[in-house]
Amino acid sequence: MHRLSTATLAATISILSNVTAQDTAVIGLNSLTEIEFSQLSQRDPNPLGEKALAIHPDQWKHAETEHFIYHFVHDYVATPVSVEAEFHYRVVAKEIERDEPPGDIKSHIYIFENPQEWHEFQALGKLEPWTGGIHSEGSLFIQRDPSYKFSGNTLGHEIVHLVMHRFYTAGIPRWLDEGFAQYISKDAHASYQRARGYISKPHSESIPPQDFMPLSTLTAFTYPPSDRVHAFYNESERLVRFLAETDKPNFLKLLDALGRHQPFENALAEFYPTRFSTISALEEKFRDYASKDFGSSLQQASN
Ligand SMILES: [Zn+2]
Repeated sequence: MHRLSTATLAATISILSNVTAQDTAVIGLNSLTEIEFSQLSQRDPNPLGEKALAIHPDQWKHAETEHFIYHFVHDYVATPVSVEAEFHYRVVAKEIERDEPPGDIKSHIYIFENPQEWHEFQALGKLEPWTGGIHSEGSLFIQRDPSYKFSGNTLGHEIVHLVMHRFYTAGIPRWLDEGFAQYISKDAHASYQRARGYISKPHSESIPPQDFMPLSTLTAFTYPPSDRVHAFYNESERLVRFLAETDKPNFLKLLDALGRHQPFENALAEFYPTRFSTISALEEKFRDYASKDFGSSLQQASN
């Protein structure tokens, strides 16, 4: 088990060389150092955190890195999570071109291992339909079965939410939050795969024309619609990718405006005035982009 987890860690760390050597030095190559709960630099005011730690209380160990605090059972399970967490922190901060948010509040990550206990805990929070994790008020609750090798971008997706919550504490619209989490974590996952010697491109999924949701509908959801979960995440990801690729500086301004709870239509008119000043003008151009590559071999290869 230790050998396996060391290999996983080494693979994860190798992607860090794509960031900078300095980042790797900051994160360190060793497993997390366990510290007493009383010695943690910060407490989690989230009541769900307290409830998590009340489940089989003597099992929990604790550790922290620069931006996160971890509550876990085994360090070989928590260490790769910590490497991914700090990696995604840097990827997001770089993407949104922001320095450290004011204050140095860390995000808490609770890692359950026992399926029974996770099941018991799940009843207390709202599971994200995409990843099966629970993200609540800037804290993340996940289950990791040590015997199951995790793949894909689901942990990265949740960590992007955590990091975005640090920068936009008052919240951003659901399509933007989910779309951005998918956009960043898919790209980061592709670089992770490439670092392990695989040929991998970010797998942005195209939207079958019949599944396309009007943007006025997509942008109004406050929670992923249960009958169209997959379509909601994919179209949100495509929309974020489209806006960011069309005009990155103005995408960041739009993000800030939506972080201040401005209506989407107003922000669009302000920051994309010549390209698409209304939602329907945006939709006209976005519709083609959303279904690009649908049914092609490229799309099939990516599924
Ligand atoms: Zn999500």
